[in-house]
Amino acid sequence: MLVADIQRFCMHDGPGVRTTVFIKGCPLKCAWCHNPETQSEEKELLFYENKCISCSACQVCEKNVHYFDELHLLNRKECVFCGKCVSKCPAKALEIVGKELSVEEVFQSVYRDVLFFDSLGGITVSGGEALSQWEEVLPLVKMCKEKGISTAIETCGYAETDVIKSLVPYVDIFLYDIKDTDDVRHKKYTGVSNEKIIKNLFFIDSLCVKTIVRCILVNGVNLNEKHLENVAEIVKRLKHCEGVELLPYHEFGEVKRRASGRKSLAKKEWLCNEEQIKAAVDFLENKGIRIIKNA
Ligand code: SF4
Ligand code: SF4
Repeated sequence: MLVADIQRFCMHDGPGVRTTVFIKGCPLKCAWCHNPETQSEEKELLFYENKCISCSACQVCEKNVHYFDELHLLNRKECVFCGKCVSKCPAKALEIVGKELSVEEVFQSVYRDVLFFDSLGGITVSGGEALSQWEEVLPLVKMCKEKGISTAIETCGYAETDVIKSLVPYVDIFLYDIKDTDDVRHKKYTGVSNEKIIKNLFFIDSLCVKTIVRCILVNGVNLNEKHLENVAEIVKRLKHCEGVELLPYHEFGEVKRRASGRKSLAKKEWLCNEEQIKAAVDFLENKGIRIIKNA
């Protein structure tokens, strides 16, 4: 498996205290992505310009990835991820994202936390997109279930229905993203249609599996009554949905977006203020939707 990170004691990735495994790779390219360094299915070298003290220690690189032309520039394509520059950098300005681990290694890493899971907690497979490496995720969640560990998958839902079907027996809950119910905007901001995503959500529900629907709120994009109305309509038709989590857009992903050499697509006006968030919560609650609060 190519894993971006494994984080412990997570309180916001499903019920209870969880260990979250972040998979590399995602079929969507959301303009507001909070974890852009997980989008590619390849390893990546991140460079945090604001931490760099221009000491040149990274020029230990045998591939000449780092060069200085007034600014510190990188020829990332040449990087073979040997990690020499990362270990030489005194300012922690460099990081490799993406570690190859066997399914067994990931399982063991999760299993050592078993005493810290509360009655609800367990593993959450996230990303990137958890289902982008479904052939590895399947045995992982199977092993967890066999050890009595609760399993959650956080997904954008953009996968073949048969893939989801194969995972369902080993997944306790899907944390299921609905980015936008307007398909034109969905294509514009994520790169793909939402048709398959909404179809798969109903498919999961038809198999009596629990879901929590997660909705990013982006001011000026999907923060409008029509979208919220559509979310309410969808959720009301689900028989096994525990509720909706609203995730207001934040700018944290921008640091990693820059560090990974990606262009920023974000706009300042995407941030939602407290009043807008409260209005969205009230709107959905008035429609009879349970809002799951994280903070
Ligand atoms: S990880 Fe290795 S190949 Fe890549 S830039 Fe650093 S030293 Fe060079
Ligand atoms: S080693 Fe680190 S601090 Fe020094 S120039 Fe390279 S990135 Fe900057």
